[in-house]
Amino acid sequence: MLLDNHHRQTTYLRLAVTDRCNLRCRYCMPAEGIDFSPRSELLTFEEILLLCRTLADLGVNKVRLTGGEPLSRRGLTDLVDGLSPLFPTLAMTTNGILLPQHLDRLVAAGLTNYNLSLDTLRPERFFEITRRDEFDGTWRALELLQAAQLNTKINVVVMASRNDDELLDFVALTKDRAIDVRFIEAMPFNDGDGNHHLFLSATEMLTRIRSQHPDLAVNTDDRHSSAQRYRVPGYLGSFGIIPAYSRTLCGSCNRLRVTPKGTLLNCLYSTKGLELRPLLRAGIGESELAELITIFVAGKHVNGHVTQKLEQSSSTFASMTSIGG
Ligand code: SAM
Ligand code: SF4
Repeated sequence: MLLDNHHRQTTYLRLAVTDRCNLRCRYCMPAEGIDFSPRSELLTFEEILLLCRTLADLGVNKVRLTGGEPLSRRGLTDLVDGLSPLFPTLAMTTNGILLPQHLDRLVAAGLTNYNLSLDTLRPERFFEITRRDEFDGTWRALELLQAAQLNTKINVVVMASRNDDELLDFVALTKDRAIDVRFIEAMPFNDGDGNHHLFLSATEMLTRIRSQHPDLAVNTDDRHSSAQRYRVPGYLGSFGIIPAYSRTLCGSCNRLRVTPKGTLLNCLYSTKGLELRPLLRAGIGESELAELITIFVAGKHVNGHVTQKLEQSSSTFASMTSIGG
């Protein structure tokens, strides 16, 4: 079992499989992209599977594939084949553009949960935010997920003066669709000014939604969820608000992260990770790996503010694409 020194069990891995992406979302990457990792520096599928078997034995029961755009990693469905017998919940966060061509195969391979990133319902705004004219692709992915009745969430990064006027439009989307919309606080990203002006707090988002829907029902059954869930009475779907930057829900954190190059991180705000790739390439065995990971997780800080202070990280991210969001 993976326990940290604050009596929390780690059961959830966010696994970034690539730092490459077919979009250039302004809050995530500069227009020219980042210094992408050469393929030889990415964990191979064999290395990922050894790591994941070890983590499953240590009690991890949920994995989320992320990136970069996870579907831009060649052969990803083969990795899903290998991971699905290990974990009851196998999820992916994707911008959806490549999803239609892979969906049948992903479902057959055992992917159970789909988070689709979609920050606007307006095509011209999609282009402004992502620098690519791909709204139709992401929307098509949503329609396919819904038609197949797959477990679907929509991730919306909420930005002041960019898409915050669409909060209620996204809530309206949950009226006739059994989806869960997740409104995410924008985290400052270092493309010059850090985008601090885009920040809109989780509290402010909820206040604005409540002003139109004062009778919201609250569902708090999942204590590990990074968002409380709300439902407008009579609506099929629900929504949640993720205080990614305010970090008010860190106290019940159950997650670990692995970057595309194989750095294990206890927190999104960590700078001090455990470098797994050299260990895996040196032929480390599962029991030794399990021991090192157990010690590493025990040292997890109590919350993201403490991590940021003690590990002297910045609150401004280089790019979410190399951490996985
Ligand atoms: N490419 C995939 C996608 O966009 O769904 C997966 C990787 S992306 C880094 C994972 C999540 O992080 C997405 O939902 C994205 O919107 C979110 N994200 C990226 N940069 C962010 C930022 N600066 N603040 C808040 N969320 C961010
Ligand atoms: Fe790509 Fe996702 Fe980052 Fe957008 S948020 S640039 S889709 S990795």
